[in-house]
Amino acid sequence: MTTQFEPVIGLEIHVQLASKTKMFCACPNGMDESSGPNSEICPRCSGQPGTLPVINLGAVRLGVRAGLALGCQINEVSSFERKHYFYPDLPKGYQITQNAHPINGRGEIEITFGPKENLQKKKIGIHHAHLEEDAAKSSHCADYSLVDYNRSGCPLLEIVSMPDLRSADEAYAYLTEIKRLMQWVDASNCDMEKGELRVDVNVSLRPVGQESFGTRTEIKNLNSFKAVRDAINFEINRQSEVLNKGEKVVQQTLLWDKENNLTKPMRSKEDALDYRYFPEPDLPALVLNKERLQELRAEMPELPAAKEAKFMGLGLSAYDAGVLTISRATAEYFEAVLAAKAPAKAAANWITTDLMGLLNADKKDISQSPVAAGNLAELIGLVESGKISRNQAKTVFEHMYKTGEKAGVLVEKLGLSQVSDEGQLFAWAQEAINESPKAVADFKKGNRAAVGALVGAVMRKSKGKANPKRMNEILVELLSK
Ligand code: ADP
Ligand code: MG
Ligand code: ZN
Repeated sequence: MTTQFEPVIGLEIHVQLASKTKMFCACPNGMDESSGPNSEICPRCSGQPGTLPVINLGAVRLGVRAGLALGCQINEVSSFERKHYFYPDLPKGYQITQNAHPINGRGEIEITFGPKENLQKKKIGIHHAHLEEDAAKSSHCADYSLVDYNRSGCPLLEIVSMPDLRSADEAYAYLTEIKRLMQWVDASNCDMEKGELRVDVNVSLRPVGQESFGTRTEIKNLNSFKAVRDAINFEINRQSEVLNKGEKVVQQTLLWDKENNLTKPMRSKEDALDYRYFPEPDLPALVLNKERLQELRAEMPELPAAKEAKFMGLGLSAYDAGVLTISRATAEYFEAVLAAKAPAKAAANWITTDLMGLLNADKKDISQSPVAAGNLAELIGLVESGKISRNQAKTVFEHMYKTGEKAGVLVEKLGLSQVSDEGQLFAWAQEAINESPKAVADFKKGNRAAVGALVGAVMRKSKGKANPKRMNEILVELLSK
């Protein structure tokens, strides 16, 4: 008989903070691609003797913003420690990190997962989030290795979750939310291709109903959401096979081999590193006084959860509210359309389907939208007032997207304006009736659908400029005489 197991998952996420300079020196952080290897380094971040670190307050500010977004208790006093290991990517022989006293304490975020029609929400605890410096980047070739110290000393925030996740889908949703929050408060760009968000995944299984946790494995350094999902699912299967054979899961550190879709041991508990943590003697405690904390709180933008609640209050579905808060720029764009007097539902439809469709196809961000928020509101107004039909509006919108021109201008240029002059509408209706005796006879026999044919005839006659809804009414009125 096979036992049913419940997965228990906790994530440690490293995000690179988007400060101008590195964590403890003045070298640029996140240098542009064009600068070659080892061009953005100094005696401090290349670990030369006699140099002293200085805390970058810009990075601290971003770390606190991140902590506030994660609902963390911000610690007024935190401190740095040295974490020792020997490897060429760590020139000092230790990494400066926070261990016993991190800047951000306990927090909590809410994740959303499941199918569109049945979204589920769940709170996930944040154990803490601490500041540290990055190591250099090594590339291993056949018979030699290369090290690029440009990344050495770049500021990181490590966000450690509570073991609250129960499936790969929940872990995926958690990652999505962390990325959204970090970008939302400008703490990190989280560009995965540049390695600005890297994940260690801890997975264990326990028999369903058991309270205590099982032995866990840790998969290191995953750099895509897909790798996180695949690695978790692989590990869940592997561990349940081990347990079902009556064997024990070995506590070990694993690497994900994405070519072969499997985890490989890196080191076991017996070879676990002893990092010999001790307080960094060259740095004072990091103190944030009440006034500074107050300033940092006051600078925070409204967070996505609050925005989502606001949007749902306007009658939007949870799904649409989620799409409109996918980024701060998206939410602000939507709000700008509302501020220009467009109704919420229409604005949401245009943004989530038409605008995002075109932007996605062009791999553009909403901040680069050729259609300004005010112009979209104007277009929506033209539809609402019956000046143009929804179909015509689509055509106008496509032109707006291509040219950046205003809706009203394009309606004129394209000759699309709907005719609302009643005299003209009645004239067209009468003409259509005169030309289609069969449709008229059908209508008189009680076939009300025959009006459709007459509306079609008017639309052809008017080159689509007649308002079909009003035309329908006029035709029924004339035919019922
Ligand atoms: P370490 O510092 O040795 O990596 P921590 O206790 O700080 O260990 O935990 C690291 C991560 O592992 C956290 O995200 C935590 O939620 C998760 N974790 C701890 N115990 C378990 C477990 N039994 N199963 C799955 N995840 C776990
Ligand atoms: Mg760990
Ligand atoms: Zn430097």
